[in-house]
Parts: sequence; C-alpha cells; structure tokens
Amino acid sequence: GVGSFIHSYGSKKFIRPKSDDVLDAVAQARFNEKKWVWIEDDNEGYVRGHVVKEEEDTVEVEYENGGTAIVRVCTIKPMNPPKFDMVDDMAELTHLNEPSVIHNLTVRYKTNRVYTYSGLFLVAVNPYRKLPIYSEEYIQSYKGKRRGEMPPHIYAVADQAYHDMVQDKENQSILITGESGAGKTENTKIVIQYLTAVATTTNKPTTNILQTQILQANPILESFGNAQTIRNNNSSRFGKFIRIEFNNRAQICGANIEWYLLEKSRVHQQTSKERNYHIFYQLLEADEETKKQLLLTDQAQDYNFIKHSNKRIEGVDDAEEYRNLCKSLEIMGLVEKEKIDLFRIVASILHLGNISVTDYRDRADIRDFSVVERVCHLLGISAEDFKKSLLAPRIKAGRDWVTQAKSPTQVVASLDALAKTLYERNFAFLVERVNKAIDGQKSKDKLGFIGVLDIAGFEIFESNSFEQLCINYTNEKLQQFFNQNMFELEQEEYQKEKIAWNYIDFGNDLQPTIDLIEKTNPVGILSCLEEECVAPRGSDGRFLEKLNKFCDKDNPEAKYKSTRFGDGFILRHYAGDVEYSVDGWIEKNKDPLNEDITRLLARSSQKHVALLFEDYLTDDGPSVAPVKSDYTSSFASMLKLKKGSGSFRTVGQRHKQQLLALMNTLHMTHPHFVRCILPNNRKHAGEIQTKLVLDQLRCNGVLEGIRICRKGFPNRLSFDEFRKRYQVLCPYLLDREAFIDGRTACQMLVNQMQLDGDKYQIGTTKVFFKATVLADLEELRDGK
Ligand code: ATP
Ligand code: MG
Repeated sequence: GVGSFIHSYGSKKFIRPKSDDVLDAVAQARFNEKKWVWIEDDNEGYVRGHVVKEEEDTVEVEYENGGTAIVRVCTIKPMNPPKFDMVDDMAELTHLNEPSVIHNLTVRYKTNRVYTYSGLFLVAVNPYRKLPIYSEEYIQSYKGKRRGEMPPHIYAVADQAYHDMVQDKENQSILITGESGAGKTENTKIVIQYLTAVATTTNKPTTNILQTQILQANPILESFGNAQTIRNNNSSRFGKFIRIEFNNRAQICGANIEWYLLEKSRVHQQTSKERNYHIFYQLLEADEETKKQLLLTDQAQDYNFIKHSNKRIEGVDDAEEYRNLCKSLEIMGLVEKEKIDLFRIVASILHLGNISVTDYRDRADIRDFSVVERVCHLLGISAEDFKKSLLAPRIKAGRDWVTQAKSPTQVVASLDALAKTLYERNFAFLVERVNKAIDGQKSKDKLGFIGVLDIAGFEIFESNSFEQLCINYTNEKLQQFFNQNMFELEQEEYQKEKIAWNYIDFGNDLQPTIDLIEKTNPVGILSCLEEECVAPRGSDGRFLEKLNKFCDKDNPEAKYKSTRFGDGFILRHYAGDVEYSVDGWIEKNKDPLNEDITRLLARSSQKHVALLFEDYLTDDGPSVAPVKSDYTSSFASMLKLKKGSGSFRTVGQRHKQQLLALMNTLHMTHPHFVRCILPNNRKHAGEIQTKLVLDQLRCNGVLEGIRICRKGFPNRLSFDEFRKRYQVLCPYLLDREAFIDGRTACQMLVNQMQLDGDKYQIGTTKVFFKATVLADLEELRDGK
C-alpha cells in the first residue's frame, strides 16, 4: 500500500545537501533583491527575468539577458529560490509551474542527473551516452535503501517494487511509458538487470541459467520486434509486459512475456531512412550453409521488401548481431531445427516480396514461377496450389465452393497481407517459445511477480490513423489507472490520519473519452468500426458518417467532441485533442487474409508452418490430422485468432480484449510509474529542447500529476520530524523540558507560524501541507 507514498513525500530530506553554504547565501540574497519570474517565450519556451512594474493585467519585465517588455500577467510564472535548483523531487518545489519543472529537469540533465522524481513518477531523461551509473557497485548501493536516501534512479524504483513485494506479499508493476526514443526499453532492461542481480542469493547453476535466459529474452525479441526508425535506431515496434516471478525465498523462479500491437506494415514497406525488422538484415549475414538452406543471397538489394530501405545502422554490425542472436536462441534452449524454422518464415517472406504480379487486361498472372517455387519450398506447400489460390481463391458461396479470379491489385494486397501474417504469427510463436523456456508456473511456492510494462506513449502526429487510436486508447486507460491509483493512495493516507478531505475522483475525468472508444452500448468507436466491418457494403466513409451521428448527439457529460474534419474526426484525449483520419480503417481492422492460402498453410508439410496456421484447419478438403504439440493450444489462444471466437477476430477487438486483460492484471498490483523523456530530436547527449520536453510532460501526465497533487496535501511530516525541524521558530518549545505530546507541539508551531487554516491539516501522526507551504516555512526558519 502506502509505503512508497510516504517515502515519496515524507521522511526524506527536504532540500538538497549544501556543498557551499556561503555561495548559497549569496545566491539567495541576490534572489531576494528582485521579484524573479519566468516569462513565456516563443522560441525558448520560457526565459528568466524580473518584474519592474506591476499593473492590473500587465507587468513590465526586464529580461535577464537584457531588454524590457510589457507582458500579460498570465504569461509570467514565479521562480523558485535558488536552493531548489536540482531538487530531487519536483513535488517539493515551492512553485510547481511548468517553467520550474522544465528548469529543474534541464539543470539536472546538464549535470548527468537523468533521473528525477515528480511525486509518484520517476522522470527519466534519455542521456544518449553511457553513464557510469549502472554498475554492480551502483546496484549494491541501492539495495534495500529507501527512496530519498539515494539520488533518484530507476534502481530505486526497482528496489522499491522488490521491497514492497516481499514485505506486503503483493504483486508489483512498473509502468514505463514515453515517446519513441525516450528510453523505455533501455530502462526496462535496467530494471530486469537489477532484479536478476539482487534476487539471487545462491550461485546454484539452475537459477543462474534461468536468469541468463531471462536476460537473453530481450535481444531475441529485439531482433524480431525492433527496427531502425527515424526517431530511434532500435525502436520497439510492439509493446510488452514482462512478468518476473518470485518464489517464497524472494528469488526469481520464472518470467513471462506478453506482447501488444506489433507493427506489421513494416514487413512490406519502410521509408528510405528506416529499416525493416533487424532480423531481415541479420539473416543475410548468416553462415553460407544456413543461407543455402533458406535459398538466400547475401544482398539486401536482391529483395523487394528491404531493398528500398536503409541498409546499415551506424555502429551496428548485423553479422555480429546475428551471432549474438544464435547464441541467445541456444541459451533459450532452441535446437537447430527450431531456429531454422523461425528463420524459414523470415526467408519465405523475403521471397514472397519478390513475387511479381503481371497485369494482362486486368487479369493477374505471375511473371517468374521459380520465385513462387522457392516460397513454397520453404513453406512446405505445393507451388501449383499456391498459385491457384493466389490468383483465383476458392470461396464459399452458400454451401458450395466457387473460385473467384482476383485483379492484380488484389493479388498484390493478398501477398502483402500474407507476409504480414506470417511475420506476426512467427513472432507470436517465438514469444511463446521463449515463455516456455522461462516459465515459472511450475514453481509451487510462489510469492508474487513484478511486471514491467514497456509500451509506446501518447502519439499525436501530423496524420493520425487507426494505430494511433489503439495506442492512445491504451494510454488513456493507463493514465486513468495512474490517476485512480494516486488518488487511492492519498485517500487511504488521509483516512488513516483522519483529516478532513472531500472525495475527488480524478479517474472519472478520462471516462467519457474511454467510453467513447470502447463502449458497446451506446455504441463506441471500436464497436462502430466493427459493425461496419461486417456490413456487406461497409466503407470508411459510412463508418465516419455513423460516428458523427452518434457523437453529435447532445451529451452534457461528455468532454469529447467529434467533428467532421476532412476525412476524420477529433477526439478529446487527456493529452489534447487528436484528429484522426479514418482512411483505410475498415481494411486495417479486418486485416483480411486469403483463406484459401491459409488453409493450404495449415496443411503444410513443415510442422512449424502448419502450427502457425492451425486455426485454419477446417473440416473441408482432405483431412489431415493437425500437428499437436504442448504449446499449440496456448499459442492459438494467445493469438486470439481461433475460428469461432468471432469477437476477437478484428484487430480492434483483439487489442481491446488484450488491454482489458492487462488492466485487470495491473489492478492486482501495486504500481510504480516511470516516465521517459526524449531530450531532443537529434539523438544528442546533453541537449534539451524545452518545447519538445514540455509537450511530453503534458502528454505523459507529469504536469497533470502535479496539478492533482496540488489539490491535496502533497507534503507531510511526522509530528516528530516537524517539531525537530521547526522548533527554533517557537522558543517556547525549545525551552520547555516538560513533556508536550506531538500533536499539541505541532498545533503550537502552526499557531506560532500563523499558518492559514486551509494550508495544513493535522492528522493522527503527521502534519499535512498544501504545496509550497513547507517551502515557505523553510524560508521563514532560515530567515531567522
Ligand atoms: P521506442 O518506443 O522507439 O522503442 P524507447 O523508448 O524504447 O523507444 P530506447 O530504445 O530505450 O527507446 O532508447 C533509444 C536509445 O537511446 C537507445 O538505443 C540508447 O542509445 C539511448 N538510451 C536510452 N536510455 C539510455 C540510458 N539509460 N543510457 C544510455 N543510453 C540510453
Ligand atoms: Mg523500445
């Protein structure tokens, strides 16, 4: 429960240790001379200055760098006294405004302090350089420490989670979000590194193998799930939730990985500055024997699906990465055959991309049959059958089967769709295979788990599509979870301390938007899309029309709006209004496949291939016994693609179900929140782009968190601590030798300080303060 919260605001040192009191005093004196403020600036975000003259709505300011101006009052924000520079926890700032937050993050970042607390959040700014803060020594120095004893660090969060799990016997989660390139995956790895380091007491080889395997899971997933993008050379194109399981001795006994929303379109198209998934390039660096088996050359130029992409990533050697991947797969326990089967799919996709479809009077044909033969050799199916199914698939018309010739465009589309599905199913299979290796379910004496969520943050692009809706929907839910949680902890604490407080449910703020996306009655966006997908003449345009109809209805509670805007609608998210274009949503959601081909694949002579398409094994056609293995069923159910479970069959529904399951899991945990920040768009160390960072702080809820925090009593001190710190202000307390109980002493102190009644609350063991009050008290005392 509340443990971590108390640490976050309570017993820790209030201000940073002073290295040079004299210098600080000088700075303070200089600060006291003027009324310093932050002034909004179009280029810099905010600049320093001080107030020269105050009018009713305007003030005259003098900029620190020279010049004066008359500005509106609302464009200036008070500045914190210098002693708050580099404060470890931004919730402690006297003035909790945007410029102060960004200033604090900036000065910390410039001195390599990339981690900062902000109330319940840990904010992590990507250093873009190797910092010497992830060593074994560092791990040891964070072990068993309370927050506040050590500088902010992701290790502190990991340790807190571990500590809480052991002490409260409660599952924990660490939620890491942020923009692409912000450092989510790196921090996820660092958390796992920490847990695998501290949660072992023995050198027993069995536990060590498990730990090594858990650590090796990441490079494997990265080969198949990461790619170079404009923003990140190693961008995760899927979300994941890794659960580390612990036994009763608090040692790691297993792990499990769930994945979300793999970006499939990358398999058949990328921009020239980006790449396809790493594995495609790594595979071309395989040994000759393997390449021969997979019918591969060593030239990216030979394959349509990668030849237009960037080929090399600076500083990365694909050959070396290939060898590392093979090593990791081996450690994971995959035998040669299993490895080749995984690669077989990747290779077949490369060949699939080379099938060139010809157009003769709008009839599709295939130019070079040998390419088809190669694909089919690898996939273990008949090339003749494949060609027939591709050009003129059999479809069910009533009770009969008829063939239907496809246009060249349709054939190309079904090839692309096939490549995407092959890739996704292979990925799903790989994750399941890794899970099988690191599975902790066998362990009888389980204590609990720590789950780490590494998932893309809120996205607002120039053009936003279905993918953005899915990810923003996810973030809306996660933000609601945070708000509810933050409030719950507050509420618990206030109740325990019996202080006066009116219930505010911040989670409800987000409900109208969430409802609008996920509700089935009245129909929400996803359901509406669903309806259009099964409708005989469903189209993107009709979907939008329907959407506008039900959104325009007067709904006083709803904070959303949906207006016609080109081909899209606008949705009010907590992070801002986002305009979505509905172009292609029906196709994206349906994700249609040529079922004649998938049925063919389900009967492949290659067991691995047949397994991937097991759910297409229908009772028509020649009956072949399905290939069974012990993870068959879990694989199919994980893909949620099994025939018959109709509601799971579209992308949107599948994501919704997965998200609801994730939320259920998260609700059973004590969460910890990490917000990663991209400092600049240049992958540069040491550079902060103020506006870029501010936008992220708005989107990721850090600023919102501060706002909520200020509505309550963010600072609290035990009676004892409060008295010790401030009794100099009340000589009466100092002089007395007689006993005075904590509560009375506190009351005397606040009376002496002439604090307004609404600024504080005295609980049963602690004094609570509104934001900034404690800082004022510090000044009052230091001024003495
Ligand atoms: P995406 O959403 O695209 O997957 P991400 O948030 O997972 O992005 P990462 O891949 O974790 O981003 O980080 C991007 C790059 O930034 C890393 O490859 C690494 O070069 C650098 N980086 C991130 N965090 C750190 C760190 N703590 N120390 C050193 N470098 C880092
Ligand atoms: Mg990542």
